[in-house]
Amino acid sequence: MSVKDRITQWVRPEVQALSAYHVADAAGLIKLDAMENPFDFPAALKAELGADLRDAAINRYPDPDAGAIRAALRELYSLPDAVDMLFGNGSDEIIQILAMAVAGPGRTILSVEPSFVMYKMIATFIGAEYVGVPLNDEFQIDAQATLDAIKRHQPALVFIAQPNNPTGNLFDDETLRQIVAVSPGLVVIDEAYTAFTDADYMSWVSEYDNVVVMRTFSKVGLAGLRFGMLFGAQEWIEQLNKVRLPYNINCLTQNAVLTAIRHFPEFVKQTEALREQRRWLSAKLEEVAGVSVYPSEANFILVRVDLPAKSVFSEMKKRGVLIKLLDGGHPKLAGCLRLTVGSHEENEAMLKALIEALESVRG
Ligand code: PMP
Repeated sequence: MSVKDRITQWVRPEVQALSAYHVADAAGLIKLDAMENPFDFPAALKAELGADLRDAAINRYPDPDAGAIRAALRELYSLPDAVDMLFGNGSDEIIQILAMAVAGPGRTILSVEPSFVMYKMIATFIGAEYVGVPLNDEFQIDAQATLDAIKRHQPALVFIAQPNNPTGNLFDDETLRQIVAVSPGLVVIDEAYTAFTDADYMSWVSEYDNVVVMRTFSKVGLAGLRFGMLFGAQEWIEQLNKVRLPYNINCLTQNAVLTAIRHFPEFVKQTEALREQRRWLSAKLEEVAGVSVYPSEANFILVRVDLPAKSVFSEMKKRGVLIKLLDGGHPKLAGCLRLTVGSHEENEAMLKALIEALESVRG
């Protein structure tokens, strides 16, 4: 029997049908495709991170509960005592933990579309059903369709990214409250972009018995550490912890996260600079003919071009700028590109590349 035959026979059909999460090669390019923080760290912070690495007890298993981080985050986010935490190797891992513990085969995970693609991917590979309710043409939630779908499918888990990726907008509170009210299972409010918006749903964790809030340090400048957080009632966290692999947060990450929390005002400064850059970039994009700009509360901006988006993307890449091509990923994203907000110099270079690319494709 060949490897191919064994795979056809044994790899689960839903896994065979998946395409792996694609990460573009960014070598030599200005990287504005993945919502990373473009800024360097101050020297003092770098020195402390160096010491973290030097002093880490890497011969020992890490603290399985990351107790020191727990205490530091409780203070950073002013968490009430009743709110507990679970950490993941990125919030991606937390989505997987939630899906394994709450959904699973024979159960449904529901989200809106287009939204973060890992909700559907993880639902598929853990063998759960997935329902994606289309957003309307302004990328807002179609309240009636979504509430109807929740009533019909009785999802174990509902994921709402707030603000949403890849569209960048916030959904309105009233609709979210209705979703929470009709959901029989757990509603996850994914605040991956919390640093770039004033919207904050942490209080809903205490207000509702079926809401948890997820955050990540990836977008504020620590994507390489892989550190995601889930905040929820102790009873929920206790159950989810049963499927979390022991030691999922390594000791280097734990030390670096603690240092980062001590220096949090530095990250706030950087994210505020990115909010300012977002305002600048949005205004500049509005002036470009043939580009529609969507409102953003995140560190990226969704645009729609009136030319083949794939060609615009390639022409930008030829000019040394990597962005995210969304066209082809979902019917509602025809003509769409997602531009991560970078440093001022990067944004200027990106804008120039976009304008030149549009001219080149227009011919
Ligand atoms: N949620 C949303 C909405 C995202 O956009 C992302 C990253 N693109 C994640 C979660 C995952 O982030 P990470 O695993 O880096 O914490």
